[in-house]
Amino acid sequence: MSPAPKRRQCGTQQAHERLCEMYPAFRARQNGIEQGIRRSIQSGQAQRVTRQLITIPVVVHVVYKRDPENISDAQVKSQIDALNRDYRANNSDTSTVPDVWKGFVTDPNIQFALATKDPKGKATTGITRTKTTRDSFGTGDSVKRATTGGSAAWPRDRYLNLWVCNLGDGLLGYAQFPGGPAATDGVVILYTAFGTMGAVQSPFDLGRTATHEVGHWLNLIHIWGDRNDCGGTDYVTDTPNAQLPNYGKPKFPHISCNNGPNGDMFMDYMDYVDDAAMVMFTAGQVARMNATLAGPRKKVGR
Ligand SMILES: [Zn+2]
Repeated sequence: MSPAPKRRQCGTQQAHERLCEMYPAFRARQNGIEQGIRRSIQSGQAQRVTRQLITIPVVVHVVYKRDPENISDAQVKSQIDALNRDYRANNSDTSTVPDVWKGFVTDPNIQFALATKDPKGKATTGITRTKTTRDSFGTGDSVKRATTGGSAAWPRDRYLNLWVCNLGDGLLGYAQFPGGPAATDGVVILYTAFGTMGAVQSPFDLGRTATHEVGHWLNLIHIWGDRNDCGGTDYVTDTPNAQLPNYGKPKFPHISCNNGPNGDMFMDYMDYVDDAAMVMFTAGQVARMNATLAGPRKKVGR
């Protein structure tokens, strides 16, 4: 077993750049999606969706070579439970949010359930298991195709696809933004960072890698805007501008980009801190996710 990563590293941006080069239409489509999301928030449509509880059916594809990678059903369920706490703001550790931002903590009103019917309508546990000969996977999407040692996606208009496998290069996970190819749509998570029991390893043992990556799948962007010069944006107005990712368990405040006195909102799920240090989404992020569920991911939410 390879040693657990020491600090968070998400491959979403890397995977996105690769897809945009392969499919130039993706970038154009994403611009269109971005405009639609802005309209949805301005018109109030996204906020109307926020008031409804939406349930997203999930299929978890466990792809393993060695026994520890073949995680238990209980570990899978512990991840669904963690998502259901974080996406209903029912996680008790919101108590750690600094007083100045306590009022920013927002319930996305989204819940997740393992699928009970497979694409052909047959009863299922919502978990597939595939033995592979591959030692590890990267952001190249091999885990999503049977011909490259993985397991094929279920239709994205009916399921959120989560793949759990051994990832190389210290990656904890990566996601595909809305608007990309259907065959690779979903989220990939390292098996030692998935759920809250079994094979999980500290400091990524509270299921927050999936919370972060599903945030990307719902069109959230890293809170520092993926640039290092304070010029990036996450298209959300209630998250302070920040220069770089924060790691580990930072002390409040951490100031960058003239964002004092409160500094970076490093306790947000879309930063790079340890699982125990990321505890919240803001109203702006929730509006963006719900605009995505009212727009490009309309079919998957019930
Ligand atoms: Zn990320």
